[in-house]
Amino acid sequence: MKYDVIVIGGGHAGCEAAAASARMGAKTLLLTHKISTLGEMSCNPAIGGVGKGHLVREIDALDGLMGRVADAAGIQFRLLNRRKGPAVRGPRAQADRALYRAAMQGALREVPNLEIREASAEDLILKVQNDQRIATGVLLASGEEISCASVVLTTGTFLRGLVHIGEVQFPAGRMAAHTADADKSDPPSIGLSKTLYGFGLQMGRLKTGTPPRLDGKTIDWPSLEMQQGDEPPVPFSFLTRAITTPQIACGITRTTLATHAVIRANLHRAPMYTGQIESTGPRYCPSIEDKVTRFADRESHQIFLEPEGLNDDTIYPNGISTSLPQDVQLALIATIPGLEKAVVRRPGYAIEYDYVDPRELTPALAVRKVPGLYLAGQINGTTGYEEAAAQGLMAGLNAARAAGGQAPVILDRAQAYIGVMIDDLVTKGVSEPYRMFTSRAEYRLSLRADNADQRLTKLGESAGIVGVERQKAFAAKMEELAVSRETMTALSLTPNEAAKLGLLIRQDGVRRTALDLLSLPGVDFPVLTRIWPSLAQMKPEIVEQLEIDAQYSGYLDRQEADVLAFRRDEARALPSGLDYSAVIGLSTEVRGKLERIRPLTLGQAARIEGVTSAALTLVLAHVKSLKKAKSA
Ligand code: FAD
Repeated sequence: MKYDVIVIGGGHAGCEAAAASARMGAKTLLLTHKISTLGEMSCNPAIGGVGKGHLVREIDALDGLMGRVADAAGIQFRLLNRRKGPAVRGPRAQADRALYRAAMQGALREVPNLEIREASAEDLILKVQNDQRIATGVLLASGEEISCASVVLTTGTFLRGLVHIGEVQFPAGRMAAHTADADKSDPPSIGLSKTLYGFGLQMGRLKTGTPPRLDGKTIDWPSLEMQQGDEPPVPFSFLTRAITTPQIACGITRTTLATHAVIRANLHRAPMYTGQIESTGPRYCPSIEDKVTRFADRESHQIFLEPEGLNDDTIYPNGISTSLPQDVQLALIATIPGLEKAVVRRPGYAIEYDYVDPRELTPALAVRKVPGLYLAGQINGTTGYEEAAAQGLMAGLNAARAAGGQAPVILDRAQAYIGVMIDDLVTKGVSEPYRMFTSRAEYRLSLRADNADQRLTKLGESAGIVGVERQKAFAAKMEELAVSRETMTALSLTPNEAAKLGLLIRQDGVRRTALDLLSLPGVDFPVLTRIWPSLAQMKPEIVEQLEIDAQYSGYLDRQEADVLAFRRDEARALPSGLDYSAVIGLSTEVRGKLERIRPLTLGQAARIEGVTSAALTLVLAHVKSLKKAKSA
């Protein structure tokens, strides 16, 4: 066997998958079309946001690359939802495209056990054992065969990719950054798509789109409102001490009634409306033609003008993704304040591509019908760099574990947003490109971006995926937190003593520690340091963590009961080869769903759409009777 793991595709999923596999000690090969596009941001030059920022922190907590790379490339950091509770705050950074690619390529070069090759994968090599196809390697377009124990497929939007710009269509996986020339586009993946269809996997087509890119020199910046980032910028990575990349501002403008008139007059030429595109796009990231149609009473839509880099004056107009014909794109842009004379460097476009129904996968992201094959990223019906990277990390980790004969690592819904996303995908499937939202997580009070390391770093360490540097940094932070908690627990006062120091709390005679006081409304760290000046010596990041923990302590106690109930059902394992046709009383529909998804636990079975509690009782009774018969 030449390699333990081969990862196909060097997008966000592929980079994390390859790095994760190699961190596990597996001999790993990353195959991608072009080494120069490793870490390419196909669409918006930004990482994170609400829900997505949580994923980045979790990737980082598991020693993944995305957080550190975004810190090196970020040119405007903002903590979104700052005024809301910490559970829904989302770190976001606009990134310099070239710096992001360079930082990702640099990070990958430093990963031991990882080899990177520029090549196109044409097919998988399989062996058949007991009527079961097993992936054992990769066939390159050059004809070369490379063998391995596990393959991770992360081909993004490339599977039979088809680009649309108005009436113009051409096959491509992605357009080149600065030109609409079809010949300069990245080629689509046709062979691998055929192979996946050949496995009898449920597959479908989805669509996504991107806005035109503008020449920043031709924008009337003085007429526009500008938005600055946070000062100081808050990094993604738990290892980054400070952001040193220069920071920039973004412009803000809006569409006008004239813009909407141009769009309405040309809807008959929009591929989404002519029937040229039939597949579903991301509902939460609609094209401008969609927005104008769906929100017909709105007079304007906001546009953020985001520079693509410090030394690149290309502007990404966030909010006007479109696949209208090029001449219509030019006309609509000219109606937007500040963009009247803007030159379009590359038109916006939509792309349709094949995806695999993620219900074909186990929670380890392994294809059930083809052992040895793992899928991660946009190929599984998701959208977004962060969603792709998080799946990549888990698929790389599990592919490496399988190659080494180890059991998979699966994060559950109470542990991580990564667990929520993968469980949603493999249990419910997708009807539109899936993106992460905080509302998807039932236990979001404890799944915060600020505590991702406390939730996951130790777990990652025992899985073998967390390196020594992070292990040490995490241990030091936990030690500091413990000492700080002890210090605050040793300081206490009664309501009477508090009143004498100017702090009015309930006169119930209860002596409270400084930590208890911190959980009371209106009490923050500055209040406590006035009472106990020695507390001022604590580090700001430790103070912030203690404040957030105190603020949530009451809610978390209540959530604990829900988590325990959830874990009880998750602990009830269902045998992988369970014969559902032998479960008496199950409807054909429910049986079909259980046979298709093959839930690993009763909890997962309960989350399958249409599986009732009555059906669960029947399954549970059947499993119990099987166990009884076996022990008898
Ligand atoms: P990709 O980043 O697509 O990477 C795939 C990689 O696989 C590439 O490096 C490619 O070269 C390689 N590859 C493919 N086939 C082969 C092969 N046979 N052999 C070797 N290498 C191969 N996300 C959002 O969140 N919001 C948006 O609005 C949005 N709009 C988008 C618009 C467009 C036009 C596109 C193209 C993408 C958009 N995205 C958007 C999605 C975002 O780019 C993806 O979610 C993300 O990049 C997916 O990461 P990935 O690793 O799965 O795949």
